[in-house]
Amino acid sequence: MHHKLPQYPHKSTRELKASLFLFRLLSRRFIVRTSLYLWRFLKSIHFPIKQLIGFTGYEQFCAGQDVTSCASMTEKLAQYNVYSVLDYANEHTTSAMDYKHNATMVLETIDAAKNNPAYPFAVVKPTAIGSFKLYQKMGAGQKLTTSEQLIWTAMQQRFEQLASAAAQATVILMIDAEESWILDGVNLLVLPLFVKYNSDKVVLALTIQLYLKDRNLVYKSLLKDADEKGYVLGAKLVRGAYMEKERNRSAVLNISNPVCETKDATDNQYRDALQSAMQALDKHFCIVATHNQSDINWVVDYCSKNNISVRNSNLWFSQLYGMRDYISFSLAEQGANVFKYVPFGPLEQAVPYLIRRALENSAMKSQTLQECLMIKNELRRRKING
Ligand SMILES: Cc1cc2nc3c(=O)[nH]c(=O)nc-3n(C[C@H](O)[C@H](O)[C@H](O)COP(=O)(O)OP(=O)(O)OC[C@H]3O[C@@H](n4cnc5c(N)ncnc54)[C@H](O)[C@@H]3O)c2cc1C
Repeated sequence: MHHKLPQYPHKSTRELKASLFLFRLLSRRFIVRTSLYLWRFLKSIHFPIKQLIGFTGYEQFCAGQDVTSCASMTEKLAQYNVYSVLDYANEHTTSAMDYKHNATMVLETIDAAKNNPAYPFAVVKPTAIGSFKLYQKMGAGQKLTTSEQLIWTAMQQRFEQLASAAAQATVILMIDAEESWILDGVNLLVLPLFVKYNSDKVVLALTIQLYLKDRNLVYKSLLKDADEKGYVLGAKLVRGAYMEKERNRSAVLNISNPVCETKDATDNQYRDALQSAMQALDKHFCIVATHNQSDINWVVDYCSKNNISVRNSNLWFSQLYGMRDYISFSLAEQGANVFKYVPFGPLEQAVPYLIRRALENSAMKSQTLQECLMIKNELRRRKING
């Protein structure tokens, strides 16, 4: 891909040096593992972890504590045509009060997005607004008790409220995907909303995790379903972030692991899904949510070979805030639609998210080292240019 420097225009030299230091640490799995044990220990003794904020990667991967404090960073990104979605980092909450609070936070991000081109999307994690246990139970076809039924109805209403707010604000609401064993339950609440809200344009986008076996086929059947029922399928294509959890659970339960057996198999499914998405681009909406350079190059090439504009409004690219910024800026430079997933929220709540990022960076050593190389090049360029 063609790169015109600078690659990190939104970061000061001091910030870039801090990023380089962090990515170097994250490329060492041993250090990441040890830090996680230390982190858990400090939590268990109720150490005031706020004091450790500078050592957690929080500033690298989260843009602020609340919607307002993210604005300075997201406006900076928007100057370079890199847009944002504000992602309230609060995973696996368990109380009715938390679900309500989290739904209110997502409504706040939808409100912030209204009439603000810097935020074309909003996003919700199903477990942030509803009970993990009930998604699992409903997905497995189990009967709910009377009190659970009331909670389920409240979960349904929350999705409905968010979809309706997104439609009114002309914002696209993405629904993240989490563990495979709650997917069916989530879909019971979400899929009916597609028929209602996506009848003539995309309001909702669900997430397809292509590391799950045969998920490319599921995606194809969803595209077919959308054609038959006459709605626009909004889909965010990802590989999947819960590999270790999936593996551990299937070992404990002695069931077959739903994740593809090899990285190659995941890659093949991802590419196949991209192919389906590109063929359906005249009707359906797709977000290529990956840091994988070769997939991104493939999509850009597909566009040029098939006379599709990379600016096509049904095609977006997305990367996580603080990761592979050079890819996002380069795509924007080529005129593609691109946005960053920008997590925000208090440090304590963001911890599970930060842990996932740390593990991912340490597992994907070569990509993390590539990130270090890009930052070093940019630092060198700034030194030469003064
Ligand atoms: C904008 C954005 C939104 C996202 N939203 C979600 C979401 O809603 N839900 C979610 O689960 N994830 C989400 N992710 C994370 C995503 O699923 C991946 O974990 C992450 O992007 C790394 O994959 P990659 O495609 O960027 O690149 P790559 O580095 O090419 O692939 C790494 C991925 O390949 C898969 N993989 C690695 N080793 C193996 C193996 N041995 N066998 C099988 N598969 C393997 C894993 O999924 C791993 O994460 C999102 C990512 C982005 C960029």
